Amino acid sequence: MILTCLACSKANRVPAARVLDKAKCAACKAPLLPLRRPVPVASAADFDELVRSAPVPVLVDFWAAWCGPCRVVAPELEKIAEQRPGQLLIAKVDTESLGEVAARFAIQSIPTLVLFRNGAEANRLSGAMSASAILSAFAL
Ligand SMILES: [Zn+2]
Repeated sequence: MILTCLACSKANRVPAARVLDKAKCAACKAPLLPLRRPVPVASAADFDELVRSAPVPVLVDFWAAWCGPCRVVAPELEKIAEQRPGQLLIAKVDTESLGEVAARFAIQSIPTLVLFRNGAEANRLSGAMSASAILSAFAL
């Protein structure tokens, strides 16, 4: 997965399996982990690696820039990422640029949130919700 350094904006590639380890930016040595924000998924291959090898549950937000309710749910997901560093990964899949991934999971409407545990879909929800409603709906 690609993590953009908050300090210097350099893109760093970190294996999803190592997301609980300590990782530092290759350029400025600022800590990249634990992740306290949703991470954009760059490619279908990165999506597969993330879902398959992340050692924590992965909550995937299928969204698009033109979708109003997606803009409502985005800050709620940022709150969850801030509250659960190292316990949960929140990944964002842009259904425009990663249509192949959205099609594979038969995403009919956005936003759709899909929770993956141990590489498999555990549950999904559609529509905008608050952070607390999302956490309780997925029993997180
Ligand atoms: Zn940096």
